[in-house]
Amino acid sequence: MDSVGVAAAAPDAGPGPAWQSKCPWGAPSTTSISCSLADVMSEQLAKELQLEEENTAFPEVVAAAEGPFITGENIDTSSDLMLAQMLQMEFDREYDAQLRREEKKINGDSKVSISFENYRKVHPYDSDSSEDEVDWQDTRHDPYRADKPTTTPRRGFIGKGKDITTKHDEVVCGRKNTARMENFAPEFQVGDGIGMDLKLSNQVFNALKQHAYSEERRSARLHEKKEHSTAEKAVDPKTRLLLYKMVNSGMLETITGCISTGKESVVFHAYGGNSATEDKVIPPECAIKVFKTTLNEFKNRDKYIKDDYRFKDRFSKLNPRKIIRMWAEKEMHNLTRMQNAGIPCPQVVILKKHVLVMSFIGQDQVPAPKLKDVTLSSEDMKKAYYQILNMMQQLYRECNLVHADLSEYNMLWHDGKVWLIDVSQSVEPTHPHGLEFLFRDCRNVSQFFQKGGVAEALNERELFNAVSGLNITADNEVDFQAEIEALEKMNEDHVQNHGKKLSTFSSDGDPPIYDE
Ligand code: ADP
Ligand code: MN
Repeated sequence: MDSVGVAAAAPDAGPGPAWQSKCPWGAPSTTSISCSLADVMSEQLAKELQLEEENTAFPEVVAAAEGPFITGENIDTSSDLMLAQMLQMEFDREYDAQLRREEKKINGDSKVSISFENYRKVHPYDSDSSEDEVDWQDTRHDPYRADKPTTTPRRGFIGKGKDITTKHDEVVCGRKNTARMENFAPEFQVGDGIGMDLKLSNQVFNALKQHAYSEERRSARLHEKKEHSTAEKAVDPKTRLLLYKMVNSGMLETITGCISTGKESVVFHAYGGNSATEDKVIPPECAIKVFKTTLNEFKNRDKYIKDDYRFKDRFSKLNPRKIIRMWAEKEMHNLTRMQNAGIPCPQVVILKKHVLVMSFIGQDQVPAPKLKDVTLSSEDMKKAYYQILNMMQQLYRECNLVHADLSEYNMLWHDGKVWLIDVSQSVEPTHPHGLEFLFRDCRNVSQFFQKGGVAEALNERELFNAVSGLNITADNEVDFQAEIEALEKMNEDHVQNHGKKLSTFSSDGDPPIYDE
């Protein structure tokens, strides 16, 4: 009978090849289970397996003993490791306490205080570092890769005959490990063990090294986080270097301090030096606008620059850092246009990456007040209004620009007149949202002056028409805005069809004027 199936496999038949090939469920495993549940749970077994794994994973390292990690013939050192970690924790705590004492001593009752925060050893166990953050520090070079060679001779042993001592000798090895702690990152405090005849077992050494390494990365990450969040207080090292070079080259005399910290920039005051770079006379007082190199701020501004044809081709190819430089560049170009039209504004001195140096509006380190902070006589208020109306027209017609962030916050009162600042976001009127930006500017200006008691101040719609020369007749805001958007759309359609923009808008039935 050639019956197939389970029945054919009598318990004592013994699995033969024939049976195996016939059984639709395949062969049951016949290898006897070698360990019980107790064995599986056994620590001893776990350790053995671990050791086995380590030895197969790092067979070379034992032989070379020069690699960053050493494996070896260790007896039970887990308690040493625990001890070392506890000591490290204790050390960190003492170190922080000492820092706090010094901080307190230095600060005393002074209103202005300094902080050693950045030097503190935040212990890993109370760390808040989250792994999902962008961890670009990981690409930094590994400081341990360039470990100094140890003093063990190449052949790996000293002495002769019976007195031979190999590098695997426990004492030699332990001492060497202790000495090697010196190669840990300088910020990692290893205590005074190096001076003592301390013998660190390989396992402890490796664990400490791993700890030092991850600790260093973590502290760099924390530091970076802080550096970014408090960039207003301390500019990042690269910017500091740029500023330092400006002083060093004699272009600037001294940087006296910070005038303003905004979301997107930090502005410093500086005294101009006497070295005339590029045939330019350095103004006696300068303002240094540092565009923040954080990545989150500029996102809000995408719409200004993305659609600006002057930058359009470049935008998509650039990395965030370069985009930030472009803001600085944009501000420089716009200020130059304004300067050429005779509009009172800071004069560009120099642009270096994301740092723009310009003339300082103000005197003796005191910046001119913003229009929102100054109380003007009604006569000056009226004068300021007409001046601004005039400047807006010049900006639109002569500079082909819309400020796009015009308000009492970005106008300074100095020398009896209004100065325009902060033009990095300014766009050309034919920008896809250019007219909307202009309308918003007009609303800010007309509201400010109407509230400020200037009876002659035009309302926002009248001001818009007066600046742009357009003749939008809608008598309410909603319709007015709809017409603005229709004009913008018309321009966009034109771009789609002709591959270029209108040079100006026209709404009064005349054919639009094109660039030739
Ligand atoms: P933000 O984008 O941060 O608003 P701003 O260009 O408006 O940058 O500059 C911030 C502040 O710095 C201004 O409100 C003004 O008080 C001061 N400031 C900027 N540029 C100058 C300058 N050239 N002279 C004097 N003060 C300036
Ligand atoms: Mn501003």
